[in-house]
Amino acid sequence: MKKANKTINIQNLCKNYGKIRAADNINFTSSAGDIIALLGPNGAGKSTLMNMIAGYLAPDSGTIEILGKNIADNAMFAKENIGFLPEGAPLYADLSVKRFLCYMAELKNQKKEAVQKVAEIANITDVMTQKLETLSKGYQRRVGFAQSILNNPPILLLDEPTDGLDPNQKDYIRKLIKQMSKDKTIVISTHLLEEAENVCTRIIVLDHGTIKADGTLATILKHTKTKNIAEAFRKLTTQENAHA
Ligand code: ADP
Ligand code: MG
Repeated sequence: MKKANKTINIQNLCKNYGKIRAADNINFTSSAGDIIALLGPNGAGKSTLMNMIAGYLAPDSGTIEILGKNIADNAMFAKENIGFLPEGAPLYADLSVKRFLCYMAELKNQKKEAVQKVAEIANITDVMTQKLETLSKGYQRRVGFAQSILNNPPILLLDEPTDGLDPNQKDYIRKLIKQMSKDKTIVISTHLLEEAENVCTRIIVLDHGTIKADGTLATILKHTKTKNIAEAFRKLTTQENAHA
């Protein structure tokens, strides 16, 4: 059955904040191996969508299935199968990196060895005794990233994973994402065009809570009759520039 192969299946998803339509009838499905960029300007609804898939925010209407199960009725199952790097800094600012990761490992029923492993993968072993609040933004992002892969989940949701990283660190995380994607579904939100272009197998362009395009870079360029991602992005997300 085809449906069972879908890692994420989203149907008619809506979320309003007063008059703002943060998610306006979103539909998409994903399979293992997909690296999907949720690409859109600030306020497009990227974080809202990710928070809903991660089970941190309840939709107004619509359904989200993870590995064939509706998350509304299978919250634990969904949490076990999703790794989530939320926007911004990790919580628990006064914990050391090690304490934070050990705590998260405990919540996820992982052994202590998992902490050392993800610390090595995320390249943060040199700050394990430091408090989270004393870390640079780049290190904080990488601690959050380490936390998201603790239980080696089949679905990874990374909300602006390279935000605040220097160019070398960006490159490192992007390579890591590619390496890990073989048997996973990875969704990353970004407003960085080169990230969507170079890291992802599929691009979903979001604007004002709606999907403006969904496909490979090549299909999006063809569909928008543009030559590069920057041109396509402008055409899909800003009406004002259409006359420029
Ligand atoms: P993005 O992550 O793409 O920048 P968000 O999902 O954060 O976008 O926001 C989508 C829209 O919803 C924006 O207009 C934002 O101002 C609004 N929004 C997000 N969270 C809230 C909230 N808690 N209360 C009111 N409005 C919100
Ligand atoms: Mg956001």
